[in-house]
Amino acid sequence: MKIICIGRNYRAHAKELKNEVPTEPVIFLKPQTAIPPKKHPFFYPDFSQDVHFEVELVVKINKIGKHIEERFAHKYYDEIGIGIDFTARDIQEECKKKGLPWEKAKAFDGSAALGEFIHKKDIEDLNSIEFSLKQNGVEKQKGISSDMIFSIDQLISYVSKYFTLKIGDLIYTGTPKGVGPIEKGDLLEAFIYNKKLLEIKVR
Ligand code: MG
Repeated sequence: MKIICIGRNYRAHAKELKNEVPTEPVIFLKPQTAIPPKKHPFFYPDFSQDVHFEVELVVKINKIGKHIEERFAHKYYDEIGIGIDFTARDIQEECKKKGLPWEKAKAFDGSAALGEFIHKKDIEDLNSIEFSLKQNGVEKQKGISSDMIFSIDQLISYVSKYFTLKIGDLIYTGTPKGVGPIEKGDLLEAFIYNKKLLEIKVR
């Protein structure tokens, strides 16, 4: 099982980090060990002083596929969930400056918090899924999938040109604006519409 993450998929977020709006999807991977065991807290890593939350819709692949055409991409997933792409922003900035890969900043243990999934049948319009993140009860990020630069189907198609998709693979589809730092003791909660699908403490 692999975790494929999309960077800069929302204009306002690309801008808040002073990045260019991409003309094709930005892809990076996280290993399976990035998913913390269920009910476990997020342990603040000692190598960073600036870990940020990034709430993202997550697509769970249900079928093996390679070179998937966009018009068939919807057949490759049944469930949508929510996750947090925890990012050591200080390490990422260093990597970006040096032109190095991001894995130390993005793919460390626990960096891919994952909540419950809902069946796509229970979502009225897959092109306008509303989701949000609260930090200590205060809403910090609010997104809607219609603001994605590359839609879920476009992402599945694009990613499958490079990587064979397998059952259980996850695609983290990018974060909307409003990312920010976490602190030990924080409670993070993530929602699709008003349904809470993820809750994680920071230790
Ligand atoms: Mg992200």
